[in-house]
Amino acid sequence: MTDLRVDGLRLWESLERMAQIGATPKGGVCRLALTELDRESRDMFVQWARAAGCQVRIDQVGNIFARRPGRDAGAAPVLTGSHADSQPTGGKYDGIYGVLGGLEVVRALNDAHIETERPIDVVIWTNEEGSRFAPAMIASGVFAGVYALNHALSRVDRDGTTLGEALRKIGYDGAEDVGGFPVHAAFELHIEQGAILERSGHTIGVVTAGQGQRWYEVTLVGTDAHAGTTPMDLRRDALLGAARMIDFVDTLGRQHAPYGRATVGMIEARPNSRNTVPGECFFTIEVHHPEPAVLDEMNNALRQELSRIADEIGLAEGIQQIFDYAPVPFATECIDVVRQAAFELGLSHVDIVSGAGHDACYVARVAPTGMIFIPCEGGLSHNEGEAISPEWAEAGANVLLHAVLSSAGMVGDNQALRWIPAV
Ligand SMILES: [Zn+2]
Repeated sequence: MTDLRVDGLRLWESLERMAQIGATPKGGVCRLALTELDRESRDMFVQWARAAGCQVRIDQVGNIFARRPGRDAGAAPVLTGSHADSQPTGGKYDGIYGVLGGLEVVRALNDAHIETERPIDVVIWTNEEGSRFAPAMIASGVFAGVYALNHALSRVDRDGTTLGEALRKIGYDGAEDVGGFPVHAAFELHIEQGAILERSGHTIGVVTAGQGQRWYEVTLVGTDAHAGTTPMDLRRDALLGAARMIDFVDTLGRQHAPYGRATVGMIEARPNSRNTVPGECFFTIEVHHPEPAVLDEMNNALRQELSRIADEIGLAEGIQQIFDYAPVPFATECIDVVRQAAFELGLSHVDIVSGAGHDACYVARVAPTGMIFIPCEGGLSHNEGEAISPEWAEAGANVLLHAVLSSAGMVGDNQALRWIPAV
C-alpha cells in the first residue's frame, strides 16, 4: 500500500477553514481552551468526523475521541490527535494540524475503502496550552493518571471560572471515564516549533524523545544601600549577583548543545528604585534536556556556580526546585514505524528530540507512543506569524497515514500486519 496518499488539498482547506475560528488580524488564531471559540472549533471537528463515519465520545475532562471502527471492535485502538486550543496570540497550526491530520487519515482510508483490524481514534485533548487553565496538558495528564480528575476540573482561570464549569458551559462535559482503556499505539503529528528541520533541509522529524525540564526559583538577599554614598567594595548588590548568574545560565545551556536549554524568564529586583543598590532579587530558571543524567549534571553545575557567585558578592542565596518533569523516551516500535513510513514515502527525515511538552509525552506513560514533526518557517511558533507549507503539511499527514495504518493493520493485507507488537 505504499501508493496510498492523503488528499493534501483537502487537508489544507480544512486547516484554512478551521483557522477562521478565532482568526486574529495578524493572521494567527486566538482560541483559548473551553471558550466559545474553542467550542466552535470542537463542533466543527465533531461534525467533520461524523461526516467521515466516526462515532464520537467525550470524556469527563472534555477530551474528544472520534472513532473509525475496525474489523475487531474489541481490539485496542490506535490513537492519533493533538489539541485545538491555542495561545492568546497563537498560530494556525500548533495542535490543530495534528487533529486535522488525524481526520485526513480517516478520510483517506475511507476514500481507499480500506478496513483496518483495529479501531482508530482521532483525539482532541482539552487545554493543552495551559494558557487559560494551568498547568499545560492537563487533560492528557488525567488520561495518563498523572492528575486526578477532580484536580483538573477544579483548576481556575483568572476570572475564577473552574475548568469543570467552563466545560459545562460549552457542553463538552462528557460522560465517559477518562482513560482506563488499553491503547495499542498512539501517534501525534505536530509542527516542530523549532528550526532544526528547516535548517537541515529535512521534511520529517522522527521524534525519539521529549525533553525533560526542571524549574527553579532563586532568591538573593544582600543589603539595600544608597547608590551615591555606598563605596563599590562595600556593596552586597543582589541584582548584580543575578546578572552574573543569568550569564552563567545562558552558558550552561550552550555547554550542552544541541539539546540543552537554560533560560531566565522572569526577574524582580527590590526595592526597584533608581538610586538604591538592590538588596533583594528573585528570578526563575528553566533547564531542559532529553537525558536524565545530563539534567542532573546541569542541576549540579547550576547549584555550584550560583553558590560561588553568591559568596563572591556576599549574598544569601536560596535556590528551590519547584518542578521536575522527567524526559520522555518514545516507544521504539512507534519510532521505527514512523521512520519506516518516512523512508517508504521517500521523504527526507531525521531523528529529533521535542523541545516542547506535548500531550504525547503524557500518553507515552500509558501506551506505546511516537511523534511526527514537520518544519515550521523560521521555527516560529506561539506566534501569529506561524507558517508551514502545504507540501510539509501533506508530507507529515502521509507519514501519519502509513504509521497509523501499519499499527492498526489492514484487513486482508498480511504485509500491513507485519508490525503488531505486544501492548
Ligand atoms: Zn501544540
